[in-house]
Amino acid sequence: MMFKRFTASLALLLALALLTNTGAARQGAAVIKPPETAAAINASDDVLKTVSRMRELEIKQPVKSAFKTRDEIEQSVIRDLDEDTSPAEFQASQKTLARLGLVPKDFQLRDYVVKLLREQVAGFYEPKTKEFYLAAWLPIAEQKKVMAHELVHALQDQHFNLRRFEKWPKGDADAELAAHALVEGEATLVMILYDLEQQGLGGVDITKLGSLTERLLDNDAETSDPSYPVLSAAPRVLRENLQFPYIYGAGFTQAILKKATWRGLNDVYTTLPASSEQIIHPEKYMAGEMPVKIDLPDLATAFGKGWKRADADVNGEFGYFVILSEFLPKSAARTAAAGWGGDRYGFYENPATGATALVQYTTWDTPGDAKEFFAAYSQRTEQRYKLKHDADTGTARRVYETSEGLASIEIRGQDVVMIEGAENREQLARLQERAWQSKKK
Ligand SMILES: [Zn+2]
Repeated sequence: MMFKRFTASLALLLALALLTNTGAARQGAAVIKPPETAAAINASDDVLKTVSRMRELEIKQPVKSAFKTRDEIEQSVIRDLDEDTSPAEFQASQKTLARLGLVPKDFQLRDYVVKLLREQVAGFYEPKTKEFYLAAWLPIAEQKKVMAHELVHALQDQHFNLRRFEKWPKGDADAELAAHALVEGEATLVMILYDLEQQGLGGVDITKLGSLTERLLDNDAETSDPSYPVLSAAPRVLRENLQFPYIYGAGFTQAILKKATWRGLNDVYTTLPASSEQIIHPEKYMAGEMPVKIDLPDLATAFGKGWKRADADVNGEFGYFVILSEFLPKSAARTAAAGWGGDRYGFYENPATGATALVQYTTWDTPGDAKEFFAAYSQRTEQRYKLKHDADTGTARRVYETSEGLASIEIRGQDVVMIEGAENREQLARLQERAWQSKKK
């Protein structure tokens, strides 16, 4: 998705709100206690042995651990963000989100992400140093769950090399999100197993339980938690994106385990999930249903003088779910996004005038799926721009006059192209012509 880069930067953190949702000790999370450091460090050897047994991955080397204060965590967050994402890239993500109506126009994405992570980080594992860090203010009972989660990352790193996930090639954020969902989902699933065993429910067969994703989503619906003011006030897109790897990833790994053993799960690190679609629908991963790659050309010259492309990426099924669900009921958004086959977008700006525009090329599994998305995106567009008047054309192509330029949605067979922010009809016509020349692979 369009803001992948911030979650990628601290890929292996564990969000606090999610942690407290997986167990009973909700109220404990807000309590700030002095760290029982020595006891916790001593516990980490035992926790490592336990998760190694559960996950059936041998310990190749011991793992160092340390505590970090909120300030130290914030410094790590900022350092990782700066290493990973240039200010220009952050600006482009922020403007893309604003163009989609997912954050306010004056929203400061980078600052908010830092605040959000400062609040939400419960622990993280650093593949670079092979160490894991715990939030110093967590109560001991929570610390052990976080340890279990982070130590799964340590084992993953020893067996599957997590550093390869750190420098993901730019331009396919959806595949990157899917890879992170595998890593985070597995660590979350083992953490849940660990927690069950701690509660005396060690015999529970995780594959016999209902979908972990459904369960975690249900829990999440109840959280507008005053103990997490930054998360509670976050634009939905940030919250959804922060939680996706854990919530959907846990269900994905659970689904793999229903068909395979823990050893079988090792193979998923060789054939990585390729899209958020495969994470949401694990059966599509197992069937090898690959996303369609779209080669959308750079349209800067079609925009005209002064325009440049500031970003290009893939939104994925999950991205379109988030984009639609900002303006439509969740169930409608989920259904419309589910026929996703592939997409690519380009985000453009004219620095001299401050104008921005977005071109999206999407392809769908069937013409019926494309029609469904066309209708949903039209509805979303009317809501997004608060349009009083109907579109000026018919069933295959709509053009809206908005306060932020022209917006068009056009369907041809299985494909739908959306352009938002065109300055006039001539420019729009040029953009449409060029966008439809995109190649599919
Ligand atoms: Zn993690």
